[in-house]
Amino acid sequence: MLLTISTTYDPATDLGYLLHKHPDKVQTFSLSFGRAHVFYPEATAVSCTAALMLDIDPIKLSRQQGGDQASFALQPYVNNRPYVASSFLSVAIAQVYGTALNGRCKDRPELVDTPIPLQAKIATLPSHDGESLLHRLFTPLGYTLHVIHQPLDAQFPEWGDSHIYTVTLTHTIRLRELLTHLYVLIPVLDDEKHYWVGADEVDKLLQKGESWLTDHPEREEIAHRFLRRQRRLTRAALAQLTEEDDPDPEATGKQHDQEETNAESSLGLHQQRLQAVLDMLKASGAARVLDLGCGEGRLLRMLLQESQFKAIVGMDVSYRSLELAAERLKLERLPERQRERITLLHGSLLYRDQRLVGYDAAAVVEVIEHLDAPRLAAFVQNVFAFTQPQIVLITTPNQEYNVMWPSLPAQKFRHRDHRFEWTRAEFQTWATKVADTHGYTVRFTPIGPEDETVGAPSQMAIFTREHIDENRTP
Ligand code: SAH
Repeated sequence: MLLTISTTYDPATDLGYLLHKHPDKVQTFSLSFGRAHVFYPEATAVSCTAALMLDIDPIKLSRQQGGDQASFALQPYVNNRPYVASSFLSVAIAQVYGTALNGRCKDRPELVDTPIPLQAKIATLPSHDGESLLHRLFTPLGYTLHVIHQPLDAQFPEWGDSHIYTVTLTHTIRLRELLTHLYVLIPVLDDEKHYWVGADEVDKLLQKGESWLTDHPEREEIAHRFLRRQRRLTRAALAQLTEEDDPDPEATGKQHDQEETNAESSLGLHQQRLQAVLDMLKASGAARVLDLGCGEGRLLRMLLQESQFKAIVGMDVSYRSLELAAERLKLERLPERQRERITLLHGSLLYRDQRLVGYDAAAVVEVIEHLDAPRLAAFVQNVFAFTQPQIVLITTPNQEYNVMWPSLPAQKFRHRDHRFEWTRAEFQTWATKVADTHGYTVRFTPIGPEDETVGAPSQMAIFTREHIDENRTP
């Protein structure tokens, strides 16, 4: 079992300080289930790789586990545990790279908080739910994945593929974050009984999960799997994460969507919103368009019907929504020429994404209020400084209008996942600052019936890029 971590940070050998392991030495650590070796296949100023090799001893393992779980006599000795990444690798990360995992670095303390270009390669990562689970877990955290599906046996290709993947994760990120993600997500991918599930697991998960887990669209699945389907523990962990005891988040999510639809349905507001966005995109002359946070693809369907749009990209952080979008658009059955016009991408607006560069226009419809306010700066940076479409359309609820819905309790948002809802003044102040900072002009238009005092239920900002920004972030 091999995990390598590489960097091209300058100087790359700083990886040795961060990991607390000297690049010139091979070091061996004794663990209760075998041994771990750390060594550096390469260590130069331009490129440095640290390898963690896990040498699991099936005899030690069987003694630890006792005989009671074996489904056949030799099972304690003959199993895949020595060969695949599992909770044993998490234990090894915690024990061998513990200092780095906990964000300490005596010699280069400033490095701990510096995002650096990192690449982690896990030679044999199981996934009980195929390649899609790998993407669902890692993409929302900003990783680019390279996945190779391993055959069951290279000598007998007719046996088909195994459930083992060689996965390379690339991201510019703090090392401690990378290690934390691996620590939590590797056991989530593995379907076997975990090695260390015990009473303190909730704490461990929460400690290592912190904010990234709260925001992760698969947090239920992660908590569920990490805690090995122990419903009571899972529920406790989720309740702490969301600060509310919600035994069935799936069902509740649907109910919340329904609440939002109810509040807004009398107006057919969402349709009006999409129509306003579509009209604006048509008028702009855009041919290549992005729908960022496309959800289940309602706008995408409208865009497909207009021949003006030659390249249409829908992007969302929720894999499930993209699956629903693919169904709604009947992608499988579209004629080749139509099919080529549309691409669905799994990704997050909180991370730079090269795939989104080179488009005329971007629509961001009812998405920003789902982002944590402190993360908005990252969203702005990615869209306005990095992706830089000519036109950006952003819609968001007008909070002032909420008093017009008798069914909506005072001080409540229209949707429980909304992190904020802005007044017209708040939205305009924010958008004007974004435009001024990034070389765009901005104007505003109400969406839906306008009330004299509180305005319209929804609001749109139309950003137009003024000039080529020489300082575009590379
Ligand atoms: N634009 C769609 C969906 C709006 S709901 C429509 O108008 O119908 C908000 C969408 O934003 C959801 O699909 C959610 O998954 C997505 N979203 C939330 N955070 C995101 C992020 N960080 N990156 C990309 N999409 C995100």
